[in-house]
Amino acid sequence: MADRMAFFTTPRCPRERRDPQERLGDHREVYREGALLPVVADQAARCMDCGLPFCHHACPLGNLVPDWNTLVAHDDWRAAAARLLATNNFPEFTGRLCPAPCESACVLAIDAEAVTIKNVELAIADRAWESGYDAPQPPERLTGLRVAVVGSGPAGLAAAQQLTRAGHTTTVYERADRIGGLLRYGIPPFRLEKHRLDRRIDQMRAEGTVFRTGVAVGRDLPADDLRERSDALVVAVGATRCRDLPVPGRRLSGVHQAISYLTLANRVDEGDYPDSPVSAEGRRVVIVGGGDTAADCLGTALRQRAAAVTQFDINPRPPGRRAADQPWPVHPKVYRETTSHEEAGDAADGPRVFAATTVGFEAGADGRLAAVRFAEARRGDRRPRPGTERTLPVDLALLALGFSGPGHNGALVGQLGLSVDPRGNLARGEDFAGGADGVFVAGDAGRGQSLIVWAIAEGRAVAAAVDRHLRGRTELPAPVAPSDGPLTV
Ligand SMILES: Cc1cc2nc3c(=O)[nH]c(=O)nc-3n(C[C@H](O)[C@H](O)[C@H](O)COP(=O)(O)OP(=O)(O)OC[C@H]3O[C@@H](n4cnc5c(N)ncnc54)[C@H](O)[C@@H]3O)c2cc1C
Ligand code: SF4
Repeated sequence: MADRMAFFTTPRCPRERRDPQERLGDHREVYREGALLPVVADQAARCMDCGLPFCHHACPLGNLVPDWNTLVAHDDWRAAAARLLATNNFPEFTGRLCPAPCESACVLAIDAEAVTIKNVELAIADRAWESGYDAPQPPERLTGLRVAVVGSGPAGLAAAQQLTRAGHTTTVYERADRIGGLLRYGIPPFRLEKHRLDRRIDQMRAEGTVFRTGVAVGRDLPADDLRERSDALVVAVGATRCRDLPVPGRRLSGVHQAISYLTLANRVDEGDYPDSPVSAEGRRVVIVGGGDTAADCLGTALRQRAAAVTQFDINPRPPGRRAADQPWPVHPKVYRETTSHEEAGDAADGPRVFAATTVGFEAGADGRLAAVRFAEARRGDRRPRPGTERTLPVDLALLALGFSGPGHNGALVGQLGLSVDPRGNLARGEDFAGGADGVFVAGDAGRGQSLIVWAIAEGRAVAAAVDRHLRGRTELPAPVAPSDGPLTV
Protein backbone atom coordinates (compact mmCIF):
# COMPACT_ATOMS: atom_id res chain seq x y z
CA MET A 1 0.00 0.00 0.00
CA ALA A 2 1.48 3.35 -1.02
CA ASP A 3 2.12 5.89 1.76
CA ARG A 4 -0.52 8.63 1.29
CA MET A 5 1.59 11.06 3.32
CA ALA A 6 4.75 10.35 1.34
CA PHE A 7 4.85 13.96 0.07
CA PHE A 8 5.41 14.85 3.72
CA THR A 9 7.63 12.01 4.88
CA THR A 10 9.71 11.02 1.83
CA PRO A 11 12.38 13.42 0.55
CA ARG A 12 12.87 13.94 -3.19
CA CYS A 13 15.51 11.54 -4.51
CA PRO A 14 16.49 12.08 -8.14
CA ARG A 15 18.05 9.38 -10.30
CA GLU A 16 21.65 8.55 -9.43
CA ARG A 17 24.36 9.54 -11.93
CA ARG A 18 27.67 7.79 -12.50
CA ASP A 19 30.81 9.43 -11.13
CA PRO A 20 31.81 12.35 -13.42
CA GLN A 21 35.36 11.01 -13.85
CA GLU A 22 34.03 7.59 -14.89
CA ARG A 23 31.63 9.28 -17.33
CA LEU A 24 34.42 11.19 -19.04
CA GLY A 25 36.09 7.89 -19.93
CA ASP A 26 33.23 6.76 -22.18
CA HIS A 27 30.27 8.01 -24.23
CA ARG A 28 27.58 6.05 -22.46
CA GLU A 29 24.63 7.72 -20.76
CA VAL A 30 25.52 9.52 -17.57
CA TYR A 31 22.95 7.70 -15.42
CA ARG A 32 23.66 4.53 -13.53
CA GLU A 33 21.86 1.62 -15.17
CA GLY A 34 19.10 0.16 -12.96
CA ALA A 35 19.54 2.80 -10.23
CA LEU A 36 16.06 4.18 -10.75
CA LEU A 37 13.86 1.18 -10.04
CA PRO A 38 14.56 0.75 -6.30
CA VAL A 39 13.56 4.34 -5.50
CA VAL A 40 10.98 5.21 -8.10
CA ALA A 41 7.82 3.78 -6.52
CA ASP A 42 8.49 5.73 -3.31
CA GLN A 43 9.13 8.85 -5.37
CA ALA A 44 5.92 8.38 -7.34
CA ALA A 45 4.07 8.02 -4.03
CA ARG A 46 5.08 11.63 -3.21
CA CYS A 47 2.52 12.76 -5.81
CA MET A 48 -0.47 14.37 -4.04
CA ASP A 49 -2.85 13.47 -6.92
CA CYS A 50 -4.04 17.08 -6.94
CA GLY A 51 -7.57 17.80 -8.07
CA LEU A 52 -6.22 20.34 -10.57
CA PRO A 53 -2.88 18.87 -11.66
CA PHE A 54 -0.78 21.76 -12.99
CA CYS A 55 1.96 19.28 -14.00
CA HIS A 56 -0.44 17.82 -16.55
CA HIS A 57 -1.23 21.28 -17.97
CA ALA A 58 2.44 22.31 -18.06
CA CYS A 59 3.32 19.26 -20.17
CA PRO A 60 2.70 20.03 -23.87
CA LEU A 61 1.72 16.38 -24.35
CA GLY A 62 -0.81 16.57 -21.54
CA ASN A 63 0.85 13.56 -19.92
CA LEU A 64 -1.46 12.11 -17.26
CA VAL A 65 1.16 12.49 -14.57
CA PRO A 66 -0.89 11.90 -11.38
CA ASP A 67 -2.49 8.80 -12.96
CA TRP A 68 0.78 7.07 -13.69
CA ASN A 69 2.39 8.23 -10.46
CA THR A 70 -0.41 6.52 -8.54
CA LEU A 71 -0.16 3.35 -10.64
CA VAL A 72 3.61 3.12 -10.14
CA ALA A 73 3.22 3.73 -6.41
CA HIS A 74 0.87 0.69 -6.43
CA ASP A 75 3.33 -1.33 -8.51
CA ASP A 76 0.95 -1.59 -11.50
CA TRP A 77 3.51 -1.03 -14.25
CA ARG A 78 1.42 -2.39 -17.10
CA ALA A 79 -1.42 0.07 -16.43
CA ALA A 80 1.11 2.90 -15.87
CA ALA A 81 2.68 2.15 -19.27
CA ALA A 82 -0.73 2.16 -20.94
CA ARG A 83 -1.54 5.59 -19.42
CA LEU A 84 1.84 7.03 -20.43
CA LEU A 85 1.84 5.65 -23.96
CA ALA A 86 -1.68 6.99 -24.48
CA THR A 87 -0.28 10.53 -24.60
CA ASN A 88 3.42 10.16 -25.48
CA ASN A 89 4.84 8.21 -28.42
CA PHE A 90 8.44 8.39 -27.20
CA PRO A 91 8.66 8.62 -23.38
CA GLU A 92 12.15 7.08 -23.47
CA PHE A 93 13.31 10.33 -25.14
CA THR A 94 11.41 12.83 -22.99
CA GLY A 95 12.19 10.84 -19.82
CA ARG A 96 15.87 11.41 -20.57
CA LEU A 97 15.92 14.79 -22.31
CA CYS A 98 12.92 16.91 -21.35
CA PRO A 99 13.63 19.98 -19.18
CA ALA A 100 10.49 18.94 -17.28
CA PRO A 101 8.31 22.05 -17.09
CA CYS A 102 5.87 19.71 -15.34
CA GLU A 103 8.15 19.62 -12.30
CA SER A 104 8.27 23.43 -12.14
CA ALA A 105 4.45 23.36 -12.07
CA CYS A 106 4.15 20.52 -9.51
CA VAL A 107 2.03 21.77 -6.60
CA LEU A 108 4.60 20.39 -4.16
CA ALA A 109 7.14 22.79 -5.73
CA ILE A 110 5.27 25.79 -4.29
CA ASP A 111 7.06 25.35 -0.99
CA ALA A 112 8.88 22.01 -1.20
CA GLU A 113 10.67 19.86 -3.77
CA ALA A 114 8.73 18.67 -6.80
CA VAL A 115 7.94 15.04 -7.51
CA THR A 116 10.63 13.49 -9.75
CA ILE A 117 8.08 13.27 -12.58
CA LYS A 118 10.62 12.91 -15.37
CA ASN A 119 12.37 10.03 -13.57
CA VAL A 120 9.06 8.23 -13.04
CA GLU A 121 8.24 8.69 -16.71
CA LEU A 122 11.59 7.20 -17.71
CA ALA A 123 11.23 4.25 -15.35
CA ILE A 124 7.82 3.44 -16.88
CA ALA A 125 9.15 3.86 -20.42
CA ASP A 126 12.17 1.60 -19.87
CA ARG A 127 10.10 -1.00 -18.03
CA ALA A 128 7.52 -0.93 -20.84
CA TRP A 129 10.24 -1.82 -23.35
CA GLU A 130 11.70 -4.57 -21.14
CA SER A 131 8.29 -6.10 -20.42
CA GLY A 132 6.88 -5.89 -23.94
CA TYR A 133 4.16 -3.39 -22.94
CA ASP A 134 5.32 -1.08 -25.76
CA ALA A 135 4.95 -3.62 -28.56
CA PRO A 136 4.35 -2.64 -32.22
CA GLN A 137 0.74 -1.63 -32.95
CA PRO A 138 0.15 -2.23 -36.67
CA PRO A 139 -3.21 -0.94 -37.93
CA GLU A 140 -6.08 -3.39 -38.12
CA ARG A 141 -6.94 -2.18 -41.62
CA LEU A 142 -5.43 0.19 -44.17
CA THR A 143 -7.28 3.22 -45.51
CA GLY A 144 -5.52 3.07 -48.89
CA LEU A 145 -4.46 6.72 -48.42
CA ARG A 146 -0.79 7.73 -48.65
CA VAL A 147 1.00 10.30 -46.53
CA ALA A 148 4.55 11.61 -47.04
CA VAL A 149 6.39 12.99 -44.01
CA VAL A 150 9.48 15.10 -44.80
CA GLY A 151 11.99 15.07 -41.93
CA SER A 152 12.62 12.34 -39.36
CA GLY A 153 13.15 14.31 -36.13
CA PRO A 154 10.77 13.73 -33.20
CA ALA A 155 8.00 15.75 -34.92
CA GLY A 156 8.14 13.73 -38.14
CA LEU A 157 8.47 10.44 -36.26
CA ALA A 158 5.52 11.15 -33.97
CA ALA A 159 3.35 12.24 -36.93
CA ALA A 160 4.35 9.13 -38.90
CA GLN A 161 3.66 6.75 -36.01
CA GLN A 162 0.22 8.21 -35.38
CA LEU A 163 -0.71 8.18 -39.09
CA THR A 164 0.56 4.64 -39.65
CA ARG A 165 -1.36 3.38 -36.62
CA ALA A 166 -4.45 5.13 -38.02
CA GLY A 167 -4.12 3.00 -41.17
CA HIS A 168 -2.57 5.47 -43.61
CA THR A 169 0.38 4.25 -45.67
CA THR A 170 3.10 6.56 -44.42
CA THR A 171 6.60 7.15 -45.79
CA VAL A 172 9.20 9.26 -44.01
CA TYR A 173 11.77 11.02 -46.23
CA GLU A 174 15.04 12.10 -44.59
CA ARG A 175 17.88 13.92 -46.29
CA ALA A 176 20.50 12.59 -43.86
CA ASP A 177 21.83 9.04 -44.09
CA ARG A 178 20.19 8.02 -40.82
CA ILE A 179 16.80 8.58 -39.23
CA GLY A 180 16.28 10.73 -36.12
CA GLY A 181 16.99 14.43 -36.84
CA LEU A 182 18.60 16.15 -33.87
CA LEU A 183 18.05 13.04 -31.74
CA ARG A 184 20.56 11.32 -34.03
CA TYR A 185 23.11 13.96 -34.98
CA GLY A 186 22.63 16.77 -32.44
CA ILE A 187 22.22 15.27 -28.97
CA PRO A 188 25.34 13.30 -27.92
CA PRO A 189 25.22 9.62 -26.93
CA PHE A 190 26.03 10.42 -23.29
CA ARG A 191 22.53 11.94 -23.11
CA LEU A 192 20.78 9.53 -25.49
CA GLU A 193 22.36 6.25 -26.52
CA LYS A 194 21.36 5.73 -30.14
CA HIS A 195 20.28 2.10 -29.79
CA ARG A 196 17.20 3.52 -28.07
CA LEU A 197 16.38 5.47 -31.23
CA ASP A 198 17.12 2.46 -33.47
CA ARG A 199 14.78 0.32 -31.35
CA ARG A 200 11.95 2.82 -31.80
CA ILE A 201 12.55 3.02 -35.56
CA ASP A 202 12.49 -0.80 -35.78
CA GLN A 203 9.16 -0.74 -33.95
CA MET A 204 7.78 1.82 -36.42
CA ARG A 205 8.98 -0.32 -39.35
CA ALA A 206 7.21 -3.32 -37.81
CA GLU A 207 4.02 -1.24 -37.70
CA GLY A 208 4.35 -0.38 -41.39
CA THR A 209 6.04 3.02 -41.57
CA VAL A 210 8.45 3.18 -44.52
CA PHE A 211 11.71 5.14 -44.21
CA ARG A 212 13.73 6.58 -47.07
CA THR A 213 17.05 8.14 -46.13
CA GLY A 214 19.44 10.21 -48.25
CA VAL A 215 16.55 12.00 -49.98
CA ALA A 216 16.53 15.80 -49.70
CA VAL A 217 12.97 16.63 -50.74
CA GLY A 218 12.99 19.71 -52.96
CA ARG A 219 16.44 18.83 -54.30
CA ASP A 220 16.63 15.04 -54.93
CA LEU A 221 12.88 14.62 -55.21
CA PRO A 222 10.66 17.54 -56.30
CA ALA A 223 8.33 18.35 -53.42
CA ASP A 224 5.37 19.13 -55.71
CA ASP A 225 5.76 15.70 -57.37
CA LEU A 226 5.78 14.06 -53.96
CA ARG A 227 2.67 16.03 -53.00
CA GLU A 228 0.96 14.89 -56.22
CA ARG A 229 1.81 11.26 -55.51
CA SER A 230 0.57 11.47 -51.90
CA ASP A 231 -2.82 12.25 -50.40
CA ALA A 232 -1.20 14.58 -47.82
CA LEU A 233 2.28 15.78 -47.00
CA VAL A 234 3.75 16.81 -43.63
CA VAL A 235 6.75 19.16 -43.61
CA ALA A 236 8.77 18.50 -40.42
CA VAL A 237 12.18 19.69 -41.58
CA GLY A 238 13.28 21.31 -38.29
CA ALA A 239 14.89 24.70 -37.76
CA THR A 240 18.40 24.01 -38.93
CA ARG A 241 19.71 27.44 -39.97
CA CYS A 242 22.43 28.21 -37.40
CA ARG A 243 22.67 31.75 -36.05
CA ASP A 244 26.06 33.20 -36.90
CA LEU A 245 28.43 35.52 -35.07
CA PRO A 246 29.34 38.43 -37.34
CA VAL A 247 32.59 39.47 -35.65
CA PRO A 248 36.11 39.95 -37.05
CA GLY A 249 37.94 36.64 -37.51
CA ARG A 250 34.72 34.57 -37.81
CA ARG A 251 36.02 32.84 -40.98
CA LEU A 252 39.34 31.76 -39.44
CA SER A 253 40.24 28.10 -39.56
CA GLY A 254 39.32 26.70 -36.14
CA VAL A 255 35.96 28.51 -35.80
CA HIS A 256 33.04 26.09 -36.29
CA GLN A 257 29.31 25.93 -35.87
CA ALA A 258 28.52 23.77 -32.82
CA ILE A 259 26.08 21.56 -34.70
CA SER A 260 28.76 20.59 -37.27
CA TYR A 261 31.08 19.67 -34.39
CA LEU A 262 28.37 17.62 -32.60
CA THR A 263 27.32 15.88 -35.82
CA LEU A 264 30.90 14.71 -36.42
CA ALA A 265 31.20 13.51 -32.81
CA ASN A 266 27.95 11.56 -33.20
CA ARG A 267 29.26 10.07 -36.45
CA VAL A 268 32.30 8.75 -34.57
CA ASP A 269 29.88 7.01 -32.22
CA GLU A 270 28.00 5.59 -35.23
CA GLY A 271 31.29 4.17 -36.54
CA ASP A 272 31.65 6.48 -39.56
CA TYR A 273 35.06 7.81 -38.42
CA PRO A 274 37.69 6.44 -36.03
CA ASP A 275 38.21 10.00 -34.70
CA SER A 276 36.39 13.23 -35.29
CA PRO A 277 37.84 15.41 -38.11
CA VAL A 278 37.13 18.35 -35.76
CA SER A 279 38.28 17.15 -32.36
CA ALA A 280 38.92 19.14 -29.20
CA GLU A 281 41.72 16.76 -28.14
CA GLY A 282 44.63 18.74 -26.70
CA ARG A 283 43.06 22.03 -27.78
CA ARG A 284 41.97 25.09 -25.84
CA VAL A 285 38.29 25.48 -26.61
CA VAL A 286 35.84 28.36 -26.33
CA ILE A 287 32.11 27.64 -26.63
CA VAL A 288 30.00 30.68 -27.43
CA GLY A 289 26.43 30.18 -26.20
CA GLY A 290 24.50 29.26 -23.07
CA GLY A 291 21.92 26.61 -24.02
CA ASP A 292 21.63 22.84 -24.47
CA THR A 293 23.82 22.86 -27.58
CA ALA A 294 26.63 24.65 -25.72
CA ALA A 295 26.39 22.17 -22.81
CA ASP A 296 26.54 19.27 -25.27
CA CYS A 297 29.69 20.77 -26.84
CA LEU A 298 31.19 21.04 -23.37
CA GLY A 299 30.50 17.39 -22.47
CA THR A 300 31.82 16.28 -25.87
CA ALA A 301 35.00 18.40 -25.65
CA LEU A 302 35.72 17.04 -22.16
CA ARG A 303 35.37 13.46 -23.43
CA GLN A 304 37.72 14.29 -26.33
CA ARG A 305 40.29 15.41 -23.70
CA ALA A 306 40.38 19.12 -24.49
CA ALA A 307 43.30 20.96 -22.86
CA ALA A 308 40.91 23.65 -21.52
CA VAL A 309 37.30 24.67 -22.10
CA THR A 310 35.65 28.05 -21.50
CA GLN A 311 31.99 28.83 -22.17
CA PHE A 312 30.69 32.35 -22.82
CA ASP A 313 27.07 33.00 -21.89
CA ILE A 314 25.90 36.45 -22.92
CA ASN A 315 23.22 36.44 -20.20
CA PRO A 316 23.97 37.42 -16.63
CA ARG A 317 24.19 34.57 -14.11
CA PRO A 318 20.57 33.58 -13.37
CA PRO A 319 19.38 33.59 -9.76
CA GLY A 320 19.65 30.38 -7.74
CA ARG A 321 15.94 30.44 -6.88
CA ARG A 322 12.74 31.39 -8.66
CA ALA A 323 12.61 35.18 -9.05
CA ALA A 324 9.47 37.12 -8.09
CA ASP A 325 8.65 37.85 -11.73
CA GLN A 326 8.64 34.11 -12.53
CA PRO A 327 6.19 32.72 -9.99
CA TRP A 328 4.96 29.14 -9.73
CA PRO A 329 3.79 27.40 -11.98
CA VAL A 330 5.94 28.84 -14.81
CA HIS A 331 9.21 27.14 -15.75
CA PRO A 332 11.64 29.67 -14.29
CA LYS A 333 15.02 30.86 -15.53
CA VAL A 334 17.28 29.74 -12.67
CA TYR A 335 20.92 28.74 -12.45
CA ARG A 336 21.18 25.15 -13.65
CA GLU A 337 24.16 22.84 -13.63
CA THR A 338 23.94 20.36 -16.48
CA THR A 339 25.71 17.01 -16.32
CA SER A 340 28.39 18.50 -18.61
CA HIS A 341 28.99 21.35 -16.15
CA GLU A 342 29.17 18.83 -13.34
CA GLU A 343 31.87 17.00 -15.30
CA ALA A 344 33.78 20.24 -15.92
CA GLY A 345 34.75 20.53 -12.27
CA ASP A 346 34.38 22.42 -9.09
CA ALA A 347 35.16 26.06 -9.90
CA ALA A 348 32.33 28.40 -8.84
CA ASP A 349 30.60 28.55 -12.24
CA GLY A 350 32.69 25.75 -13.80
CA PRO A 351 33.90 26.83 -17.21
CA ARG A 352 31.13 29.41 -17.63
CA VAL A 353 31.75 33.12 -17.97
CA PHE A 354 28.41 34.91 -17.64
CA ALA A 355 27.59 38.27 -19.25
CA ALA A 356 30.40 37.68 -21.74
CA THR A 357 30.15 38.97 -25.31
CA THR A 358 32.53 37.92 -28.06
CA VAL A 359 34.31 40.84 -29.74
CA GLY A 360 36.41 38.96 -32.30
CA PHE A 361 38.77 36.11 -33.12
CA GLU A 362 42.50 36.53 -33.76
CA ALA A 363 44.85 34.51 -35.94
CA GLY A 364 48.29 33.22 -34.99
CA ALA A 365 51.38 33.21 -37.23
CA ASP A 366 50.02 30.15 -39.09
CA GLY A 367 46.80 31.98 -39.95
CA ARG A 368 44.68 29.73 -37.75
CA LEU A 369 42.59 30.74 -34.76
CA ALA A 370 44.84 31.63 -31.81
CA ALA A 371 42.73 33.78 -29.49
CA VAL A 372 39.27 35.15 -28.77
CA ARG A 373 38.62 38.71 -27.62
CA PHE A 374 35.64 39.17 -25.32
CA ALA A 375 34.16 41.75 -23.01
CA GLU A 376 31.51 42.14 -20.35
CA ALA A 377 28.06 42.45 -21.95
CA ARG A 378 26.05 45.47 -20.81
CA ARG A 379 22.59 44.69 -19.40
CA GLY A 380 19.92 45.57 -21.94
CA ASP A 381 21.69 46.08 -25.27
CA ARG A 382 24.36 43.41 -24.52
CA ARG A 383 27.04 45.55 -26.17
CA PRO A 384 30.64 45.37 -24.85
CA ARG A 385 31.17 47.49 -21.74
CA PRO A 386 34.06 49.85 -22.52
CA GLY A 387 37.28 49.03 -20.70
CA THR A 388 36.36 45.36 -19.97
CA GLU A 389 37.86 43.72 -23.07
CA ARG A 390 40.14 40.69 -22.52
CA THR A 391 41.90 38.10 -24.69
CA LEU A 392 41.87 34.33 -24.15
CA PRO A 393 44.20 32.00 -26.10
CA VAL A 394 42.11 29.32 -27.90
CA ASP A 395 42.59 26.91 -30.84
CA LEU A 396 38.97 25.84 -31.33
CA ALA A 397 35.82 28.00 -31.16
CA LEU A 398 32.34 26.47 -31.26
CA LEU A 399 29.38 28.73 -32.01
CA ALA A 400 26.23 27.57 -30.22
CA LEU A 401 23.98 30.57 -30.74
CA GLY A 402 20.76 28.78 -31.62
CA PHE A 403 18.82 28.23 -34.81
CA SER A 404 16.44 30.33 -36.87
CA GLY A 405 14.14 28.88 -39.50
CA PRO A 406 14.24 25.85 -41.73
CA GLY A 407 17.46 26.75 -43.64
CA HIS A 408 18.63 25.20 -46.97
CA ASN A 409 15.04 24.42 -47.90
CA GLY A 410 14.25 27.23 -50.36
CA ALA A 411 13.39 24.77 -53.14
CA LEU A 412 10.99 22.77 -50.97
CA VAL A 413 9.35 25.98 -49.70
CA GLY A 414 8.82 27.26 -53.27
CA GLN A 415 7.61 23.94 -54.70
CA LEU A 416 4.98 23.52 -51.97
CA GLY A 417 3.84 27.16 -52.03
CA LEU A 418 4.87 27.63 -48.40
CA SER A 419 5.63 31.05 -46.95
CA VAL A 420 7.95 32.18 -44.20
CA ASP A 421 6.55 34.10 -41.21
CA PRO A 422 8.23 37.23 -39.76
CA ARG A 423 10.26 35.06 -37.34
CA GLY A 424 11.71 33.02 -40.20
CA ASN A 425 9.59 29.90 -39.58
CA LEU A 426 7.23 28.20 -42.04
CA ALA A 427 3.78 29.78 -41.80
CA ARG A 428 0.76 27.58 -41.00
CA GLY A 429 -2.80 28.04 -39.85
CA GLU A 430 -4.38 26.76 -36.64
CA ASP A 431 -4.93 23.39 -38.38
CA PHE A 432 -1.16 23.15 -39.18
CA ALA A 433 -1.97 23.60 -42.90
CA GLY A 434 0.34 25.76 -45.00
CA GLY A 435 1.04 26.26 -48.70
CA ALA A 436 -0.61 23.95 -51.25
CA ASP A 437 -3.76 22.00 -50.39
CA GLY A 438 -2.95 18.94 -48.28
CA VAL A 439 0.38 20.32 -47.04
CA PHE A 440 0.95 20.60 -43.27
CA VAL A 441 3.83 21.98 -41.19
CA ALA A 442 4.94 20.64 -37.79
CA GLY A 443 7.76 20.83 -35.26
CA ASP A 444 10.62 23.30 -35.12
CA ALA A 445 10.06 24.17 -38.82
CA GLY A 446 6.83 25.95 -37.86
CA ARG A 447 7.35 26.69 -34.16
CA GLY A 448 11.00 27.73 -34.29
CA GLN A 449 13.77 26.22 -32.19
CA SER A 450 12.00 24.40 -29.35
CA LEU A 451 11.98 21.14 -27.40
CA ILE A 452 11.48 17.44 -28.05
CA VAL A 453 8.28 17.39 -26.02
CA TRP A 454 6.82 20.15 -28.22
CA ALA A 455 7.99 18.35 -31.38
CA ILE A 456 6.23 15.13 -30.31
CA ALA A 457 3.09 17.08 -29.31
CA GLU A 458 3.07 18.85 -32.70
CA GLY A 459 3.65 15.54 -34.49
CA ARG A 460 0.62 14.05 -32.74
CA ALA A 461 -1.50 17.13 -33.42
CA VAL A 462 -0.54 17.39 -37.11
CA ALA A 463 -1.42 13.70 -37.52
CA ALA A 464 -4.92 14.48 -36.24
CA ALA A 465 -5.17 17.40 -38.70
CA VAL A 466 -4.03 15.22 -41.60
CA ASP A 467 -6.41 12.41 -40.64
CA ARG A 468 -9.30 14.90 -40.52
CA HIS A 469 -8.27 16.29 -43.92
CA LEU A 470 -8.21 12.79 -45.40
CA ARG A 471 -11.29 11.25 -43.79
CA GLY A 472 -13.38 14.26 -42.79
CA ARG A 473 -13.14 13.25 -39.11
CA THR A 474 -10.54 11.94 -36.67
CA GLU A 475 -10.24 10.12 -33.38
CA LEU A 476 -6.56 11.00 -33.05
CA PRO A 477 -5.61 13.30 -30.15
CA ALA A 478 -4.36 16.84 -30.78
CA PRO A 479 -2.55 17.94 -27.60
CA VAL A 480 -1.44 21.35 -28.93
CA ALA A 481 -2.36 24.01 -31.48
CA PRO A 482 0.33 25.89 -33.45
CA SER A 483 -0.32 29.05 -31.40
CA ASP A 484 0.02 27.30 -28.00
CA GLY A 485 3.06 28.11 -25.89
CA PRO A 486 4.52 27.29 -22.49
CA LEU A 487 2.76 28.42 -19.29
CA THR A 488 3.53 32.11 -18.76
CA VAL A 489 2.39 34.83 -16.38
C1 LIG B 1 22.58 20.00 -29.61
C2 LIG B 1 21.12 20.05 -29.28
C3 LIG B 1 20.69 19.57 -28.06
C4 LIG B 1 19.34 19.60 -27.74
N1 LIG B 1 18.96 19.10 -26.54
C5 LIG B 1 17.64 19.07 -26.22
C6 LIG B 1 17.22 18.52 -24.98
O1 LIG B 1 18.02 18.11 -24.15
N2 LIG B 1 15.88 18.50 -24.72
C7 LIG B 1 14.96 18.96 -25.60
O2 LIG B 1 13.77 18.88 -25.33
N3 LIG B 1 15.34 19.50 -26.80
C8 LIG B 1 16.65 19.56 -27.12
N4 LIG B 1 17.05 20.10 -28.32
C9 LIG B 1 16.01 20.58 -29.26
C10 LIG B 1 15.34 19.42 -30.00
O3 LIG B 1 16.32 18.51 -30.46
C11 LIG B 1 14.50 19.93 -31.17
O4 LIG B 1 13.55 20.87 -30.68
C12 LIG B 1 13.76 18.80 -31.89
O5 LIG B 1 14.66 17.82 -32.37
C13 LIG B 1 12.93 19.34 -33.07
O6 LIG B 1 12.35 18.27 -33.74
P1 LIG B 1 11.91 18.37 -35.28
O7 LIG B 1 11.41 17.04 -35.62
O8 LIG B 1 11.02 19.55 -35.46
O9 LIG B 1 13.24 18.72 -36.09
P2 LIG B 1 14.67 18.02 -36.21
O10 LIG B 1 14.98 17.15 -35.07
O11 LIG B 1 15.61 19.14 -36.52
O12 LIG B 1 14.53 17.09 -37.50
C14 LIG B 1 14.32 17.64 -38.78
C15 LIG B 1 14.82 16.64 -39.82
O13 LIG B 1 14.41 17.05 -41.12
C16 LIG B 1 15.44 16.72 -42.04
N5 LIG B 1 15.27 17.53 -43.23
C17 LIG B 1 15.45 18.87 -43.35
N6 LIG B 1 15.19 19.25 -44.64
C18 LIG B 1 14.85 18.14 -45.31
C19 LIG B 1 14.49 17.89 -46.67
N7 LIG B 1 14.41 18.87 -47.55
N8 LIG B 1 14.24 16.62 -47.05
C20 LIG B 1 14.32 15.58 -46.15
N9 LIG B 1 14.66 15.77 -44.84
C21 LIG B 1 14.91 17.03 -44.43
C22 LIG B 1 16.70 17.04 -41.26
O14 LIG B 1 17.83 16.41 -41.83
C23 LIG B 1 16.33 16.51 -39.87
O15 LIG B 1 16.70 15.15 -39.75
C24 LIG B 1 18.40 20.12 -28.67
C25 LIG B 1 18.83 20.63 -29.88
C26 LIG B 1 20.18 20.60 -30.19
C27 LIG B 1 20.65 21.16 -31.50
S1 SF4 C 1 7.28 15.04 -21.31
FE1 SF4 C 1 8.45 16.56 -20.14
S2 SF4 C 1 6.87 18.00 -19.38
FE2 SF4 C 1 5.79 16.14 -20.03
S3 SF4 C 1 5.62 14.85 -18.15
FE3 SF4 C 1 7.50 14.21 -19.25
S4 SF4 C 1 9.17 15.40 -18.31
FE4 SF4 C 1 7.22 16.42 -17.78
